[in-house]
Amino acid sequence: KPAQTSQVVSAEYFPPTATKVMMNLGDPDLAEKYASLPADGIGLMREEFLWTTYIHQHPLYLIETGHPERVVNELASGISKVARAMNPRPVVLRFSDFKSSEYRNLKGGDKYEPHESADLLGWRGASRYYDPKYIEAFKLELAAVKKVRDEFGLKNLNVMIPFCRTVDEARKVVEIMVECGLKRSADFKIFMMAEIPSNIILADQFNQFIDGYSIGSNDLTMLLLGCDRNNDTVASLFDERNLAVKRAIRHLIKTAHKDGKTVSICGQAPSEYPEFTEFLVKSGIDYVSVNPDMVKATKRNVASYEQRIILDHATGLGKADPEDYEW
Ligand code: PEP
Ligand code: MG
Repeated sequence: KPAQTSQVVSAEYFPPTATKVMMNLGDPDLAEKYASLPADGIGLMREEFLWTTYIHQHPLYLIETGHPERVVNELASGISKVARAMNPRPVVLRFSDFKSSEYRNLKGGDKYEPHESADLLGWRGASRYYDPKYIEAFKLELAAVKKVRDEFGLKNLNVMIPFCRTVDEARKVVEIMVECGLKRSADFKIFMMAEIPSNIILADQFNQFIDGYSIGSNDLTMLLLGCDRNNDTVASLFDERNLAVKRAIRHLIKTAHKDGKTVSICGQAPSEYPEFTEFLVKSGIDYVSVNPDMVKATKRNVASYEQRIILDHATGLGKADPEDYEW
């Protein structure tokens, strides 16, 4: 099908903002409905939903039983629903980030998945993509992206690498992408989640492989505070507003911007705490991606934070941002 252009039809007025407001999308079948929201694009489309909604089977099982094309076709069909609904606004698809226990729930998965005592810290994200045990499945994800962009003509589709622990991993994954015909260019961007402390500390080195970052404040908070995001006993300690998280974010924005890389956020923090969004805007973030039910409020909030910043700057009356945030 040819690419179509969606239109934002809304009686409400939302002033344009320098900080773009994107939305996180789960269920691809809701893309059409949410496309009418005044979001500037999709900042996080989680690929896992495509697997649990349409495919239901483990990719290695499908490869072994001779049906790899099912993966490509189903993924491409789900991704294109979203890219078409949002076109020409950008959509960032995040490659699969299932944990091994989640992969095991897909049909046939038991055979291929290790039993890990802490799978949030295990075989997930980038560590799978170059692994000889998973690489063929990753190549199917890449083929689906190529199909959507080249065959369906939806060039608004960009991609993101999750849970990338080392600079060497980033290099390996990007190399595989290039081999499979997905090279960074002016109209195809590769982003990386910034959700592991190493991503922040070594951002100056990660910069060379990507176009920008999206902060995964859920995992980042867990790993900076040493606080399991799924453990109720320590839930009161899990707080994205902790100064350690804020300093890390400030440092990332500075380091990314030095090399002209963009910074977004797609974790839950700005969907939950408007004051966190204010901190992000003041820190110079480029995009904030929130849940669909927070898009309108965030658009309004960002516009007023930006106006306040301009006013404060012009009058010299604004309070200086606390230096506490500096690394
Ligand atoms: C995050 O870690 O903040 C994030 C958006 O990724 P997920 O919640 O899917 O791990
Ligand atoms: Mg994450």
